[in-house]
Amino acid sequence: MALPVAEWQGRTARLWAALEPALRERLAAASLQDAVRLGCDVLRSKEEEEAALEQLCHRAPTGKKPEAASWYREQGNREFKRGRYQAALRLYSRAASHELPGSPEVSVCFANRSAALLHLGHFEVCLEDIARAESHGYPDRLLPKVLLRKAECLLCLGRLQDAQDFLRVLESKIALDGAMTTHLTRLKKLSQLKVKLGEKERCPEPAQGEHGGTQGEPEIWEENSSISGASSSLSLSFDAERGRHLVASQDIMAGQSLVKEEAFVSVLCPGESLALQDGDTAWDTRATNADLYCHRCLRQLLASVPCQGCSYAQYCSQDCADRAWQQYHRTECPLGALLLTLGVFCHVALRTVLLAGYAEVSRLVEGSHCGDKNLQNPEGSCRPLSEADAGAGSRGVPGCDSSGRYQSSYQALFHLLPHTEQHSPEHKFLCTLSVVALCKQLQAAGLEAAVLSQESPQQCSKPKTCEKTSEELSPELKTVAEAMLRHMLQLQCNAQAITVMQEMGPGDGAVVDKKPVRLATAFFPVLSLLNHSCCPNTSVSFSGTSVTVRAAQPISSGQEVLHCYGPHWCRMRVAERQQLLRQYFFKCRCPACLQELQSGVKSVVSIRNSFCCPKCRAQMQGEEDTLCCSIEACATSASRDHLSGRLQDLQQEIKKALELLRVGKADQAIKKLLKCRMDAETFLSPEHLMMGEMEDHLAQVYATVGKWQEAARHLRKSIEIVEMHHGPSSVETGHELFKLAQILFNGFAVSEALSTIQRAEGILSVHFGPQSAQMQELQEMKACLSELPRNILQRT
Ligand SMILES: [Zn+2]
Ligand SMILES: [Zn+2]
Ligand SMILES: [Zn+2]
Ligand SMILES: [Zn+2]
Repeated sequence: MALPVAEWQGRTARLWAALEPALRERLAAASLQDAVRLGCDVLRSKEEEEAALEQLCHRAPTGKKPEAASWYREQGNREFKRGRYQAALRLYSRAASHELPGSPEVSVCFANRSAALLHLGHFEVCLEDIARAESHGYPDRLLPKVLLRKAECLLCLGRLQDAQDFLRVLESKIALDGAMTTHLTRLKKLSQLKVKLGEKERCPEPAQGEHGGTQGEPEIWEENSSISGASSSLSLSFDAERGRHLVASQDIMAGQSLVKEEAFVSVLCPGESLALQDGDTAWDTRATNADLYCHRCLRQLLASVPCQGCSYAQYCSQDCADRAWQQYHRTECPLGALLLTLGVFCHVALRTVLLAGYAEVSRLVEGSHCGDKNLQNPEGSCRPLSEADAGAGSRGVPGCDSSGRYQSSYQALFHLLPHTEQHSPEHKFLCTLSVVALCKQLQAAGLEAAVLSQESPQQCSKPKTCEKTSEELSPELKTVAEAMLRHMLQLQCNAQAITVMQEMGPGDGAVVDKKPVRLATAFFPVLSLLNHSCCPNTSVSFSGTSVTVRAAQPISSGQEVLHCYGPHWCRMRVAERQQLLRQYFFKCRCPACLQELQSGVKSVVSIRNSFCCPKCRAQMQGEEDTLCCSIEACATSASRDHLSGRLQDLQQEIKKALELLRVGKADQAIKKLLKCRMDAETFLSPEHLMMGEMEDHLAQVYATVGKWQEAARHLRKSIEIVEMHHGPSSVETGHELFKLAQILFNGFAVSEALSTIQRAEGILSVHFGPQSAQMQELQEMKACLSELPRNILQRT
């Protein structure tokens, strides 16, 4: 997903192997500038490679297909009739993305979608969709239906005067229409609405929002004067061993915000798709990240605004669509399929140069040529460190401006290490060819002017296509290609995944199960200053395209502030972690790694996630293929492969159980899960994470059928295991407690609910801050519980 599709990787690997050894050597040692030049030469003589790439692009079509639109709309209607409005909503959005802008068909999509929105209770958004339908030329004969919906929406929103005025207009309109029979049902609806209106006017509902508002106190935040987006309690340091890094310049409390940064650039990952409905069909109805999140700001989509040019990009609002078009999408839109084929890193590289602007890109690329010989050296910048006062603050630290200030800017991003010499030559070759192929396409599609200048979109909207694709890249595009190659190489170490907690399953349950999902890949120049630790002292969370880093524990003055790049000591053994960290070109020496690397100290993961003896249930031991019971007298042994096989079978069975739950067969799901657990008890240690997962699933199933006490019982067991693995103040434990609070809340277990809410708040506020969505939900639950009549409170 990050890298190009496997077929293109395979082709470039074969091409690499077939190159003359001398050329391979030159490429391996080439600077970024020479790599681009040589890459152009290679591709010029291999037209079949480009043809193959074009062929691969057919698998990821991003154009608009009106025939797909009508199919999706029909599917939407089908779901709508079944009362599955959420699924219908997404299918109508998909249909709209395939219709041509301004066509009557697209207005029908919006009108249909507004009906689903009304059923889902999203009245404001429903009104927006009705307005969209009207402005796109909705057929007159269908208009009364939509206008009645509008009246209903206004009514539901409590805008009584508006509703009344509107109904009056509508009434006369329908009366004028004459053909009474066709509108009989509508007139009936109209009179129903009038009755409702009358009722509402007589007894106005109490104003909402009295309680449940955030009383979370604003966080203390003082920005650092020399690092944008960083707290004033940090300072930037630089040394040979650690490179640039951030250090606490005063004592820091747990939960304190340390970095708040907006991504310089981010690109939505196409991602795994979620099943929307079952059954295989000609078009794919599964929802992807592109259906669920705004292409630009990553906000969750409800009623998306489709791109005017492609079926891929969807936005949360017209404003986001316009801004994306202006900033980068007018260049990216015609290349949609190619960008999906070449992967997210390539896409991020392109968007980075588009956002930076050609003037800035060429300034920094040319500057870098002066010091190209030692690019691996962060000081390979052209700017001489004239002041020669490296000791004085951050002045002279790479990426800082002349006043010594480090900003989340293109300059800072440009100076992130590309590790040109450390990547494998094959990888560099793949990146080079991908970038060159993309730039050649830009040129062939007549998009060069849009890349190089800040022309207005009108001037660029009709690109002149040039005839020959084999043409030599212009010098300017070579500069762009060089910058993109650098960014692609930088991404291997500096790509930051933006993750969100995504709701799993149908999303209509009282207890929401959420899992972290990778949403986008981004560059955060300030966040990139943090070094890795497998046992970090910070916690990272995202909101849209911005990141917040908080202290996960107290950090004393002088300590380095560390962040985990992925391999956490609670989740992986040291060998796996070190393997994963190799992509960052360093060996982790954090306390967890040092301790585990010393012989004899086993990782927590190995100890807790061990197999147990089938006879006496003691822990099984041994590093070899055969494991033995740790109780000598028992003397039972078993093959590791056999036990691993059983574990895999178990995982399969659990999957099946969850599938049963998904299709609404809760009773069968419970039976299957209970059987899985019994089976697991015969060969997994009681602390095994899988045991916790099963308890969590059981809790989920019981919650969906309203058996709150059972659900709570299972979730408490899950929490015990999660705590053991991740620690009592970990974010994982926080999420589990959040779920338990929901279950207890629904089951009216008031006092335990209140104490669980309090614990969850304590943990989640450290990781996500007092203003986060989860914290607000907890507050609302608490407010609701405290308003319950006293006699209920005393009963529990
Ligand atoms: Zn948006
Ligand atoms: Zn587009
Ligand atoms: Zn480590
Ligand atoms: Zn035994």
